[in-house]
Amino acid sequence: MPELPEVETVVRGLNRKVRGLKIKDVWSDWPKYFKPHLSLFKFKKHVVGKKINIVHRRGKNILFNLSDGHVLLIHQKMTGHLLIGNWIYNPKGDGRTRTSGFWRPVSHGPLQDPRNDFIHLMFFLNNGRQLALSDARKFAKVLCGPREEIFGKKDISSLGPEPLDAGFAFEKFKDLFKNKKGRIKQVIMDQNFIVGIGNIYSDDILYSAKVHPLSRVENLPDSILKKIYKATRTILQKAIRLGGTSIDDFRNIDGKKGYYDKARLVYQKEKCPKGHFIKRIRVGGRTASFCSKEQRIYKGLTKSKN
Ligand SMILES: [Zn+2]
Repeated sequence: MPELPEVETVVRGLNRKVRGLKIKDVWSDWPKYFKPHLSLFKFKKHVVGKKINIVHRRGKNILFNLSDGHVLLIHQKMTGHLLIGNWIYNPKGDGRTRTSGFWRPVSHGPLQDPRNDFIHLMFFLNNGRQLALSDARKFAKVLCGPREEIFGKKDISSLGPEPLDAGFAFEKFKDLFKNKKGRIKQVIMDQNFIVGIGNIYSDDILYSAKVHPLSRVENLPDSILKKIYKATRTILQKAIRLGGTSIDDFRNIDGKKGYYDKARLVYQKEKCPKGHFIKRIRVGGRTASFCSKEQRIYKGLTKSKN
């Protein structure tokens, strides 16, 4: 699933390519994207003819500010990613396997990557280009409505703070852990606790801070919380600079891969940067990769967090 660096990469790309453009039409073969609030017909009424003023991000949600004060929200979820390009609709297929969509890119290049071949939602823009959502598993979420309505929804209103906000100082991070219980990996992946961190970056953050993923947060001293805070900011910023991670479905809006894969510390790796073998365990339904030689487990200590 795209995490903060991947979504931020998409948002920056969108601001370069679609800002100021008008949406002329919308196509989709997956009306569930708009449920339960809208049908495709009603969704079209909300967005067609509107100008895209600016695109921003809240957690993993991509938010388009439209010219009439409406906000278009797209959450890419598991496998979704937005692409800019030109495609032709070919309902008969062209001899390739028919597990993917019906849209074919008009020119050779990264848009032909098979991961970009699951287009189920498309916006037609007034500069002749198209904004498409390639989404193999079709779990993405699409909403549109007045700003207050979208920001009032749990998708946005229940989210935790942004780890890269300029004002997000260590004291604010530390405050989040007051009276908090649980295992560190699960806690930092909870979008209502802090946004943007998923399986990839939580593994690398905890390796960087030398904390075992099963450590109980109620037992972590402030000095260790500070290491986690610093590692969070450093690793997310580095991943943004490298354009995100493309081990799975993620591609940027030009259909190209990011480069964080090559800078990974432990996530889905065989060895850590120091050459120790990486161990894998299940934590809250996810697989954690960690170095048992370097990452210390904090448990069984009694420490007041007040
Ligand atoms: Zn190691």
